[in-house]
Amino acid sequence: MAKITLNNIAHSYDGGNSYALKAMSHEWNDGGAYALLGPSGCGKTTLLNIISGLLQPSEGQLLFDDVDVSSLPTEQRNIAQVFQFPVLYDTMTVADNLAFPLRNRRGPDKLSAAEIDHRVQQAISMLGLEALAGRKARGLSADDKQKISLGRGLVRTDVNAILFDEPLTVIDPHLKWQLRTQLKQIHRQFGHTMIYVTHDQTEALTFADKVVVMLAGEVVQMGTPQELFDAPQHTFVGKFIGSPGMNVLPCELAGKEAVIDDRRIALAREYPTLNGVIELGIRPEFVRLVNSGQGLPVQIVSVEDVGRHRIVRAQLNKHRLDIIVPAHQPVPSEPGVEFDSDRINIYQNSQLVGWEHQL
Ligand code: ATP
Repeated sequence: MAKITLNNIAHSYDGGNSYALKAMSHEWNDGGAYALLGPSGCGKTTLLNIISGLLQPSEGQLLFDDVDVSSLPTEQRNIAQVFQFPVLYDTMTVADNLAFPLRNRRGPDKLSAAEIDHRVQQAISMLGLEALAGRKARGLSADDKQKISLGRGLVRTDVNAILFDEPLTVIDPHLKWQLRTQLKQIHRQFGHTMIYVTHDQTEALTFADKVVVMLAGEVVQMGTPQELFDAPQHTFVGKFIGSPGMNVLPCELAGKEAVIDDRRIALAREYPTLNGVIELGIRPEFVRLVNSGQGLPVQIVSVEDVGRHRIVRAQLNKHRLDIIVPAHQPVPSEPGVEFDSDRINIYQNSQLVGWEHQL
């Protein structure tokens, strides 16, 4: 396994000034589980392909354990890849498909037949493929084929990294949950460096120790799921992560209060004078519904019961506000809302105003 360093990596497909990936420098730890998360077109696959060697970056260097691999072809980077759709040999059995990446090794890396068999059996039991081991891949369901593809990515223990590009797209929703959990367990057990591309926040948050959130060719935040929830560094991260995402409301600051349309909201601390667009971010989990006459008055637009809790969609003057209400709590007909001051984030031009700005 390897530490992966991106040193000012940038990429333009047309060689001009339009960058699909803007210059970025990051260090990803040996043995870490990383998810690249972001909307379609934000540059996730471009970055993954640069790491795998399918794409040569227009600028910067890529290092594996401090060795520059930028100009090495994919075959020499010693990585395993799992793609969105299964890549299998239809005429081979499931076991032979799994053994293929191991049998292919030459010279000092050549493995004995017993070792190959051991690893194949291990992959078969990790993924629950026992009943299919002797069957030809042709004719298996899309789910099973993709499980075998995952197995092919996981059989090699000596790789620098395992790269996954939206690997659960074709998988049935129930099985998705199971495979995500299995991948996490496999990571804990074997400690591979794993990089997992997805646009699905649930996949990213359950799989990764560190989630790399991308927007328009840039990394807007890299953090643990908890950090992304508690302190989104950019309003985009707050809105993109969470269900529903963070409420973002334009405001002004006055001493230890935020002012939204002449309504005052207590803050946990005072901020220095800020310029530009100032916004208040609060997650729906930290907005409380209170009785009429208390807090800020809101109009209820809809109430969605999602079992564990309800999601109340409300209007605070002209601003939309989502509130999470515990299942047992009644929703008043003309409610007010209160914000948990400790959970309010303040943003300047979409960027979180950090504690370094504390007076
Ligand atoms: P998706 O989830 O849809 O795959 P993504 O986040 O992986 O999106 P990329 O596929 O890396 O994003 O695309 C980033 C940008 O680069 C997009 O604007 C895309 O149109 C552009 N792009 C991707 N591949 C090429 C290519 N081969 N030639 C030109 N432009 C490309």
